[in-house]
Amino acid sequence: MSFTLIEERFIHEIDSTAGLYRHDATGARLLSLSNKDENKAFGIGFRTPPSRSDGVAHILEHSVLCGSKKYPVKEPFVELLKGSLNTFLNAFTYPDKTVYPVASTNKKDFYNLVDVYLDAVFNPLISEDTFRQEGWHYEVDPETGDLSYKGVVFNEMKGAYSDPDDFHDDLCRRSLFPDSPYGLDSGGDPRVIPQLSYGEFKAFHETYYHPSNAFIYFYGDDEPEERLAFLESRLAGYSKLEIASLPAPQPAFKAPIHRTAYYEGKDPKAWTAVNWALGEHGDHETSLGLAILSHILTATPASPLRKALIDSGLGEDLAGFGLEESLRTMAWSVGLKGVHPGKTAEVEALVLKELSRLAERGIDKNSVEASLNTVEFAMREKNTGRFPRGLAIYLEALNDWLYELNPLDSLSFESVLEAIKRKALGGKGYFESLIRKWFLDNPHRSTVTILPDPEEGSKREAEEKEALAKIKTSLSKDEMKAIETSARRLKALQEKPDSPQALATIPGLTLEDLPRESLRLPAQEVRLGNIPLLYHDLPTSSILYLDLAFSLENLPERLLPYLGLLGRALLEMGTEDFDYVALSQELGKHTGGVRANSLMATRWKKKEAVAYFLLRAKAMADKTPRLLELLSSILLGARLDNKERFKQIVLEEKAQSEASFIPAGHAMIGQRLLSRLSESERKSELINGLEQLYFLRELAGRIDTDWASVLSELKETRNAVIRASGCIANATIDKDDFEKLMPELRAFAAKLPAGGAGDGKVPVLAGKADYTNGQGGEQPAPPYEYLTAPSQVNFVGRAFPLIAEASGAFLVAKKYLDTAYLWEKVRVQGGAYGGFSTYDLNSGNFMLLSYRDPNLQETFQIFDTVPGYLANIDISQEELKRAIIGTIGGVDSYLLPDMKGYVSLVYHLTGYGHEDRQRMRDQILDASAADFRAFGKAIAEARSRAVSGALGSAQRIETLPESYRRDAEIRAVL
Ligand SMILES: [Zn+2]
Repeated sequence: MSFTLIEERFIHEIDSTAGLYRHDATGARLLSLSNKDENKAFGIGFRTPPSRSDGVAHILEHSVLCGSKKYPVKEPFVELLKGSLNTFLNAFTYPDKTVYPVASTNKKDFYNLVDVYLDAVFNPLISEDTFRQEGWHYEVDPETGDLSYKGVVFNEMKGAYSDPDDFHDDLCRRSLFPDSPYGLDSGGDPRVIPQLSYGEFKAFHETYYHPSNAFIYFYGDDEPEERLAFLESRLAGYSKLEIASLPAPQPAFKAPIHRTAYYEGKDPKAWTAVNWALGEHGDHETSLGLAILSHILTATPASPLRKALIDSGLGEDLAGFGLEESLRTMAWSVGLKGVHPGKTAEVEALVLKELSRLAERGIDKNSVEASLNTVEFAMREKNTGRFPRGLAIYLEALNDWLYELNPLDSLSFESVLEAIKRKALGGKGYFESLIRKWFLDNPHRSTVTILPDPEEGSKREAEEKEALAKIKTSLSKDEMKAIETSARRLKALQEKPDSPQALATIPGLTLEDLPRESLRLPAQEVRLGNIPLLYHDLPTSSILYLDLAFSLENLPERLLPYLGLLGRALLEMGTEDFDYVALSQELGKHTGGVRANSLMATRWKKKEAVAYFLLRAKAMADKTPRLLELLSSILLGARLDNKERFKQIVLEEKAQSEASFIPAGHAMIGQRLLSRLSESERKSELINGLEQLYFLRELAGRIDTDWASVLSELKETRNAVIRASGCIANATIDKDDFEKLMPELRAFAAKLPAGGAGDGKVPVLAGKADYTNGQGGEQPAPPYEYLTAPSQVNFVGRAFPLIAEASGAFLVAKKYLDTAYLWEKVRVQGGAYGGFSTYDLNSGNFMLLSYRDPNLQETFQIFDTVPGYLANIDISQEELKRAIIGTIGGVDSYLLPDMKGYVSLVYHLTGYGHEDRQRMRDQILDASAADFRAFGKAIAEARSRAVSGALGSAQRIETLPESYRRDAEIRAVL
């Protein structure tokens, strides 16, 4: 074998045998982890430090996925999205590396994905047209003859620069490393991107995308020998190169620095954060110690530094990027957002004062214990949600590996954690000494503030226009002609479909590879005295996952907006037994966490709203008694009367809602449109959408002027929700542990306030009928609705209430529409970062959306063509097969045990039973072109009841033709 094994080790923390290798001929690095996880993962990464903020690494990340030697189609990546069972497929650009990760539970599928990715990075076509499409190019306005910039990354980054949170975090990070690649923007500054030439772009690939600069990773239950053999053939023909790609360390600052910049905004609100460069990777005790310290200082409401900042009233919520571990030098950052521009210096002073106080007086022992337990719980549970566990481990390993350190050491965390616990609990002031060394006595510090400027956006736009006008005057007639010709050629290329021969190169599964049976999730109904419990016998390593779902059938409509706040009030305002700091510490010390959320859905086949408030808890089985005591204390004895604390929560929620408004613009406009079409979506809008933001703004003022009424409504909400009637519990853990816990669970349930006994039936809200008449409840929905905010990009949507009976085959048509038509029209040709649709089987609502879109009217016009496109479609058997496989991949998405339990609860509450799921699956597997056409007709039929809208800047909305604005509702949100 031509790989040299450097080290082999069993790492019990991740239950894996790890092999660390070097490829003899090229020096390529390989980390191979073997274990029982069926969710196999692969990644290849390269060190790609930029030398300018022109986004070259980012544009390359996009471009290598646009066709390779072995797979010469326009976008192999999209073909895989269309037709594979992947559980993850994407690519990421970091400040100093580019990573290509994939995952799948199906071995054949997995190796197909790996092969396409390896060919993409080593043998990409990256033509000049690809560079222009993904990076940037000029376009000429046919009427005015003016030049403009277009390109996927160009537009994506304009979106990133419109988000003050993102913008501020990025400046904070970069401010610490002015003389290194970390001082640049590897994603690309829209003002610098057009400086990048095709030649430089090609050279960047040649320099860095070489096996000698590669960090390759395998993980899962496949054969380790097979991985080596597979790689060997793909690395053949390369020889070893010396590649200088390790970013040089930034010389330490002799004194702290201050930086100020401007974002587009009209409210007098600043973001400010204090940032430190910490040590380099390598000392695992320090790395983990700093991670735990960061948790102690800011992660919970009881965290002393968070509390000092929030209590000061200087800002609305925390700012700063927290602990950054993915750079050669670690960094840490904390501050506030929503600060009065004249008060930013006070924030810096307060951070330093509080850190000094903690170093001198010592940190509360309960806070230390709580954070130690919480961090340890998370490290052992490794609950990465929908993100594959194997890929999370890859990214963690790269934090050391990329800088020439042994990645196996940091994955074996047990002994380091024990050493830290001994020191921290030994009373020697371990964390206090870290504060002194890395924060108080460390001059490598920056304070970065961004201030609002209402003209910032128009200034940037004017700058861009001016630069383009200058370029235009410098161009000869022939050069202008050449620009037009190449723009036309690009458009033609984009519109030309791949040949069947080229498409046939993309490896895929056959329908026979797919299981015909719908996955069964174990679920058993038992009684806990008054309330029913849904139990899932699944291996959870002795962690109990317990959900309590409370029906909202007794909650008056006017109190619905309080629901999001209720969760935080219960968990973060203290109880009769504990003040809120102590409660947070107790939860941290004894549990894996408790959180609250709401579930709003449409009942299967019934078009009725199903609405629940959930408390979701987890703890080690042996800590269950303590967890249940704490839950009882929260449910029965929550103190809601701390006005100051409640106001802090409301301000934080408001700040978060405002901060997410533009980044989640597609979700905001989508939620708004759907709220016109069904009852559950309307309720959801009150709790999560624009109406919630309006409610929070009003409430923030009312707390001061009329606290009595706020408090009484909050209590009324709690009393209407927290009751045994209509409550259902949901538990996931293996059987042996569960049987031991049953008596305690029963005793706990008996204590819940009655409000009538639950009968185990799933309650359904009376509510109004669905809005399939498109009349949006009592008031007719406007044909168009616009939300305006200072954003350089738009989010465009249209929602249709379908009457046609739900069909799994429609999901296949939707998948194809997303990955073929919308991807091509909205993203590739339109220049938006994304274009896709949503279809809810339960409500029948279908929606088209664009994401970070430079266009408005053009996108509406694309939406106009969707019903006709589907209604007249001719699709090859091959493409149909891929769309079916891709759809099944989504339906069968890999879930960790806690999520299996939760999904099973949602099925139960919405009445979506196993037989219904099997029928939908059959329809997916048997989908035909006729189903696509039926879907198109169903959408066309719903056109007259559809609602449309967009989120964008007021100036851009005004440019829409009159027909799009007549009778429209336009609201300025930010
Ligand atoms: Zn990107």
